[in-house]
Amino acid sequence: MNQNWRVGSLFGIPLYIDSSWFIVLLLITVINAGEISTNQFNGATNLISWAAGLTIALLMFTSVLLHELGHSLMAIGQGIQVNSITLFLFGGVAAIERESKTPLGALLVAIAGPLVSFSLFGLFSLLSNYLPPQSLVEYITSDLALINLILGVFNLIPGLPLDGGQVLKAIVWQVKGDRLEGIAFAAASGRLIGWTGIIFGLFLFLVTGEIGALWLSFIGWFILRNANAYQRLTILQKTLLELMAAEVMTRDFRVVDANLTLGQFTQEYLLSDPGTPLPYYGASEGRYRGKLEISDLQKNRSLWMGNYHPKGDSPPPLGNSLGERKNPLSGSNSGSRKPQSAPNYGDFPRWCGSGSD
Ligand SMILES: [Zn+2]
Repeated sequence: MNQNWRVGSLFGIPLYIDSSWFIVLLLITVINAGEISTNQFNGATNLISWAAGLTIALLMFTSVLLHELGHSLMAIGQGIQVNSITLFLFGGVAAIERESKTPLGALLVAIAGPLVSFSLFGLFSLLSNYLPPQSLVEYITSDLALINLILGVFNLIPGLPLDGGQVLKAIVWQVKGDRLEGIAFAAASGRLIGWTGIIFGLFLFLVTGEIGALWLSFIGWFILRNANAYQRLTILQKTLLELMAAEVMTRDFRVVDANLTLGQFTQEYLLSDPGTPLPYYGASEGRYRGKLEISDLQKNRSLWMGNYHPKGDSPPPLGNSLGERKNPLSGSNSGSRKPQSAPNYGDFPRWCGSGSD
């Protein structure tokens, strides 16, 4: 399930069909073929009924595709990329790269789809007036007019993820001046609509025994699931905007004097604190110089054992020996590297333990 097939592209937008689409295509074909055969159109054999049912199903999804294209072209007009249009179980979805910059822009993208559907409703209604009444072709045309009217009206229900929800979001965004508040409001409305659909569908099913009523619950579930996703996204975006880096960063590390010899370092830190070693960061002259990897120390043990200094009395430059990049802004960082008899914990913190400050 949920396998996508690319079937072409429109206006440079890749067009995909989800495997679930075939289920709904078959379902709509069967329902329409059944209705056509019971209506007894002149000379409509079983084969013709099925062909007409399939035609309605295919034209219905063409209408859905044009609806999505309406959203997409309006977004492209605002310089927003549209990554794909996919047809699936519940209709179509246009993957629009990002949000419009203004509430008005978002509103225009949202209503473009329903406007296409209402235009198609007008077009098919007009066409059906010129076709022979009670004929099969007139039946198909009228049916498509009705389908497009329902598509437009249904999508304008004011709750995310429906287009009406996007309209509601844009209005709240305009009034409150906060996009996230708009999404939160429209997502809450979407949740309410989703639950209403689920409960009402179940109620109808229990009262009438019609299996079709469960479809309403199914759509309600789909709306609820997506409204929840919008809500989570809003909470995440709000949190990321408000949370300070200091509030989430780890304090499980130690800052050590980069001018310590490795022997001093081992004595002062590693041997006196035999627990799980924390990351060690070397600092000198108020700047962090790099990270001390204990595994590197183990590899080059012979170099530093017993305060061994390769060049007379000058200690191995800690940063370089541990792979620190020389910072061009800090000037020569291997200058005054005289070994000190005692570690200098001057102007940087020696210990930053978890929650100790
Ligand atoms: Zn739409």
